[in-house]
Amino acid sequence: MGLFGKLFGGYEARKDKADGLFERGQFGPAKLAYENALGAAPEPDRASLEARVVECCDGIAEGRIAEAERQLAQEAPDLAQLELEGALEVAIDPELRAEARRLLDSLEREDAQREVPEEEVLGDDAVIALLAGQWEETQGAEYDRLGEPLFAALVNMHQGEYEAARETLEALVSEAKIARYLWLELARARLMLDDDAGATEAFTTFLESLDPDEGGEARLSAHVELARLQDAAGDFEAAMAHLGDAVDAFEGDPRPYFLMGNFLRQKELFDEAVDVLRSAAAVMDEPLHPYSRALVSAIPVPGRERSQRIVLAGELPSPANPPSGCPFHTRCPNAMDICRQTFPALHQQGARSVYCHLYDGKPEAVPSP
Ligand code: SF4
Repeated sequence: MGLFGKLFGGYEARKDKADGLFERGQFGPAKLAYENALGAAPEPDRASLEARVVECCDGIAEGRIAEAERQLAQEAPDLAQLELEGALEVAIDPELRAEARRLLDSLEREDAQREVPEEEVLGDDAVIALLAGQWEETQGAEYDRLGEPLFAALVNMHQGEYEAARETLEALVSEAKIARYLWLELARARLMLDDDAGATEAFTTFLESLDPDEGGEARLSAHVELARLQDAAGDFEAAMAHLGDAVDAFEGDPRPYFLMGNFLRQKELFDEAVDVLRSAAAVMDEPLHPYSRALVSAIPVPGRERSQRIVLAGELPSPANPPSGCPFHTRCPNAMDICRQTFPALHQQGARSVYCHLYDGKPEAVPSP
């Protein structure tokens, strides 16, 4: 039995696990588990498992519609809209789709009639609360120490007032005794103002300030932006070095390999791109991260049916200006309410680690498809 089998058991064990999750109403993890069981299911069982996947999709959609109604009752139309868009992405039942569409349409009508501009509806505290959902603990502590000026700069950034944000951030960096994530924010402000050299300096200083186990998604976005900046400056080797650093920093995570492979493909270095993807094969076989699983499943592989591929919809997350909560929630097929609001904690899974809410409170790994 291969590693996958040892970790997750045979078909019966996978199906039992999926049934348990389904009965507890945990439709997101249950959907994943049924998709995993489908990979080993005997032919007579496949139809019932596929039906369960559909039920899970509708269960997830039903939960999102209920959450949207709760957000509407609390006068939070932006969050309600996110829930309804998520419900529409996953719902299969025509009645559920119609209900989500109806609520979305009425929200859009109200939005059009609203006299108050959107930025006045979402107050500064709400903006900070949304942003804080994606901060690491040490990042939040640093921002607390910097206090009101830093929060004002972050609100400026959120509202597209990059000059004002940059002015404040430059002053804070020059005065701060210890600046780490502050450099990340300054890098983003400089980037938005097309100051490539300044952004390169700030991203580099941010990365140099981190301990090896710190930084999370911010570290990945910094490496990716630095690679892009070095490439724009005509330094291919420096760009590759940053993508290589991302591979090293995110051991067990196939995303940096994908980024490097894509970069090589754009450079028309097709053989090298294939080599990079091949060298990631062991990681790609069993990705922990659901967004990575979706990317892997989208690769055409002999023997893998189209129905086993996970469809990625929604907008691509921006590394320089990531959305609130988990940066992948706009496209992750398993995104939950918490993913839109809170950055996930790091979970150790054997020799590997993963930032994902699917692993919250779960010592065991969630099965791969
Ligand atoms: S934490 Fe991110 S990757 Fe994990 S399920 Fe939520 S959106 Fe997907």
